[in-house]
Order: sequence, then C-alpha cells, then structure tokens
Amino acid sequence: MLTLASKKIERTHGHIKKSSSHKVPDNMNENKQKVKAVGLMSGGLDSTLAARLVKECDVEVYGLFCSMPWGCGNEGKARASAREVGIPLEITHPDEEFMRMLKNPRYGYGSALNPCVDCHTYMIRKAELFRQKIDAHFVFTGEVLGQRPMSQTRNSLQKVDKHCGIPGYLLRPLCALNLEPTRPEQDGLIDRDKLLDITGRSRRRQYALAEKWGLKAFMQPAGGCLLTDQNFANRMRDLFEYGYRHLNDTICLQWGRHFRLRPSFKAITGRDEPENLNLQEYADPDDIIMLFENDQPGPLVILQGARPPQDILDLAGGLIQIFSKFKSDPPLPVLYWTKNNALNKTVFTPPKLTEKKALTFKI
Ligand code: SF4
Repeated sequence: MLTLASKKIERTHGHIKKSSSHKVPDNMNENKQKVKAVGLMSGGLDSTLAARLVKECDVEVYGLFCSMPWGCGNEGKARASAREVGIPLEITHPDEEFMRMLKNPRYGYGSALNPCVDCHTYMIRKAELFRQKIDAHFVFTGEVLGQRPMSQTRNSLQKVDKHCGIPGYLLRPLCALNLEPTRPEQDGLIDRDKLLDITGRSRRRQYALAEKWGLKAFMQPAGGCLLTDQNFANRMRDLFEYGYRHLNDTICLQWGRHFRLRPSFKAITGRDEPENLNLQEYADPDDIIMLFENDQPGPLVILQGARPPQDILDLAGGLIQIFSKFKSDPPLPVLYWTKNNALNKTVFTPPKLTEKKALTFKI
C-alpha cells in the first residue's frame, strides 16, 4: 500500500500545516480510485496545457480560477479553456488576506505594484484550500521555468514552493523534468515520465501542443494585470496612504478619473456611461453621488469621505462641469445624494472650477 508518511495538511489559525489529507489512494490500481488534482487556471495557454497534460496522465482534474478584478487572468477564457479540456472550474475571489499581502509583499513588487511571487503564492494557497475541500491529492500550476523574469525564475519558484504551505507537493507539469521530483511524482500519483521539460520565454512547444490537442480557447499572452500599470499603481498607493476601506475601493480604481481633494476626501468622475454605472454600483453605501440636475449630460461623481464640508462639495460638484460639454458655460446646478438614501436629494450650484485647479488634485 502506498501512503505518505505522516504528512498532514490542515488549516489552523490562518496557516496551513501538514496533514494526512495528502494521501495516496489506497489500492489505487486495484480499486481504480482515480487520483484527483486541482490546477490553477488563468485562461492562458500554459495553465490550459498543464490541465490537459495532467488529465492525460489519468488524473481527475479540477480547475480553480482566482478572479482578480485587476489581475492577469480572464474568467471567460478560463471557463472556455476548462470546457475545452473537459474539467470543472471553480471560481474564487481575492479577500482581505490578498490586500494585506499587496500592501506588504514578502518579495516586493515588479515594475509597478505587482507582487507576482507573493501573488502566485497566494493563489496556490487558495488552490490548496480547494484541494482539501474536495479531497483531491495534489495541486499543480502551468508555471514554466524561465518564462517570466520575476515570478518564474528557479529562485522564484522555490520561494513560492516554500511559502505556499505545501512545500514539495506543488507540481509544475510543463517544466517538472527541470525541477526536483515532487511528492506526487515520488509517490506514484502521477508518472514523471509523462511530464515535460519546457523552459524559457518561447512558447513554440506550447503552441505545438495546443495544436496537437486541438486547444483554441485560451487567451493570447498579454499584459493584462493592472497592478503592472504605473497609473493604476499610483491610485492604489494613494488608497493605501489615505485610507483603504474595502475591496470595492480597489475595483473602482480601474474606472474614471481620480482626485484626492483632501486627505480624507476623494472624488472619482466617470468618463462614459458604462464607467458611471460601474462606479455607482461599486460605490460604498455612504458615498455621495453627484450629477447635473435635469438629466443634463455629464459625468457622474462619486465623493468618498464622511460629512464633506461645503468647499469639498463645491470641488466635487465643479468636476462635473469641467468634464462635460458645458465646461465653458456658467456654473450649472448639481444634484447630490448619499447612495443608501436616494430619496433625499439636494440641489446646489457649485462655483466655477478651472481645469488647471482640478488637475492639481488628480491622482
Ligand atoms: S501579473 Fe503578477 S500581480 Fe498581477 S495577477 Fe499576475 S501574478 Fe498577480
């Protein structure tokens, strides 16, 4: 009988520690009990191939997509890829643990505010929790040694392995032959001989495999992660500096123009109708919403901060006109209300704000 010594994985006090749930199925061959594994899916080529390859090794694969509102994955593509590979897909969302990591990543940031090594570690910890939930045997990713300068060097892969809570149990099937054998390989859960030795930035071998397996749904390699964008990173830094409230604040950073009016007050203007709708949807219930009175066309403003004084209301209201087609006209009346109290609306006419002054507040 194959068993893993007394290694145990269980979650206690927010940490993952070893537990007997990482076990080899008893009499696997006799009873035909299938090995089960959880693979992180991003919707990209590598994670799709990894899932297909592990499935090819007679393993029952379950996909997990970490839906980062500003991240590099694509939920639609992840769903399509999972369908194409023929595996179920679970979706998970970032939580406050992610935000704590983002503020203070152990291994720092890449070109902007992208903590790729810690971000990968976080996602693998989520995959491990899902593995425990469905009683699967191991976790794998589509990481390829040497493909990304920050997160996929040998050193980075080792760091992820060390901190993901399951050192030695994380399989990278696309480049496994260039790495030390993992416990799933050593324990016969998957045949190492069927794994690959892909390295480097070229995706030639991956495209050949995709063609061989008829995989087409994956997204093409692209940046995609807003945390690598300097403007977005500036907005996120501003949020951390002046008061992060909840995840929705960070989701709103991707839309509109952002203005820090004073340390405790911030205004966001939408640039078009979809942005206006998104900003309104994700605004905090206590945020103030402002619009031109009488349905005059213009941006919506979200004003964040408790009990804004009149000069702050004037600045926020003035922004509407600056970014409307009436910017050269005399001041127009503005309507405002608190999101959770839309029946109680107030009208006022803010004094004229110049574009030059408005831009001094821009984040
Ligand atoms: S690019 Fe880096 S920080 Fe952004 S989602 Fe991917 S791993 Fe995370």
